[in-house]
Amino acid sequence: MAAAFKQMADTFWQAQRVKRLVRKHLGAGAQCLVSVQEAWCTDPVCEGPVTEIRIVMVNFKEIRRTVHKRAAEIAAADVAAVL
Ligand SMILES: [Zn+2]
Repeated sequence: MAAAFKQMADTFWQAQRVKRLVRKHLGAGAQCLVSVQEAWCTDPVCEGPVTEIRIVMVNFKEIRRTVHKRAAEIAAADVAAVL
């Protein structure tokens, strides 16, 4: 139970951290909604974890990007590479 909670808290914290990296990359004034979700890659040759980044701009323009890493492994350079 405690381990499951810690896992959930870690996942949440890492998602928040990646959201901050995205917001920092977009610039402080960017008005948008950022969501970050960990999933499993659907590519049969990959079979690894992916992190999906979804950004909805104030004009409802949507940007979806996938980084083939766990959220915990994503650095500012990974965000810069896909955005
Ligand atoms: Zn993959």
